[in-house]
Amino acid sequence: MALYCPLCQRLYENERKCPKCLFYRLREITPGDPVLLGKYDYMRAEILKGLLAEAEIPFNATGGVAGAFGMSTALRLDEISIFVPFGALEKANELSDSLYIDEEALPPEDESDGNDGTPFESDGDFADKE
Ligand SMILES: [Zn+2]
Repeated sequence: MALYCPLCQRLYENERKCPKCLFYRLREITPGDPVLLGKYDYMRAEILKGLLAEAEIPFNATGGVAGAFGMSTALRLDEISIFVPFGALEKANELSDSLYIDEEALPPEDESDGNDGTPFESDGDFADKE
């Protein structure tokens, strides 16, 4: 049974107290509790917000904030956390997944492009030979 930390807004499977904030009173999740859906770069976050709104899933987004304890200042600051109600998590996860599926499922570009002077190679190993 997953327990919920109302401070971190995260679910933990096998913890009695929150390993993040040491908040002792983890409790059972209820459908209205916000939980962390994921962390996204700015662009994906914007897309996901649109998808969530379209699906009428309420959400909160936080991001661009350095760690309160100065520990995370070296991390990317364009990381945006999106929270959704637990009751909508499953649907929201599908939407979230679709962000990444879309990218990988792009139809292959015409391969006959002139290859002179391209300063970088596209990430390579999409194994499209089968
Ligand atoms: Zn916590």
